[in-house]
Amino acid sequence: MYAGQLVESASSVSLTDSPAHPYTQLLLAAAPDPDRTEPPHIEDRGAPPSLSAPPSGCRFHPRCPFAMDICKRQVPPSITVSPGHTAACWLHVDPAQRQASENGLLVTASEPLDKELKKR
Ligand code: SF4
Repeated sequence: MYAGQLVESASSVSLTDSPAHPYTQLLLAAAPDPDRTEPPHIEDRGAPPSLSAPPSGCRFHPRCPFAMDICKRQVPPSITVSPGHTAACWLHVDPAQRQASENGLLVTASEPLDKELKKR
């Protein structure tokens, strides 16, 4: 969860071994590790947003090291990255579909772009 929205869902093993959402990746990078000899390198990425006025698009975009223009404008769809593992992040949307979404064609996990196009 980030700012009141589900950003990633998976088994605990899949989530910790292969985090797919940048927020999860940063969270895990900050977790205590007794074997780590160097402190984790985590840039200052600001504070969590106000829930009364959350950021547009992906709520994590002001703090995300991978944010793209679309992230600021549109809520990312929940994408299945592997069986039983979903992440709500534009990084997991095919670039062509991402561009189509920028042009007003919705891309959702339940309705891939080809189905969306057939409806038009
Ligand atoms: S949708 Fe964009 S801003 Fe949000 S986590 Fe993914 S890359 Fe970062």
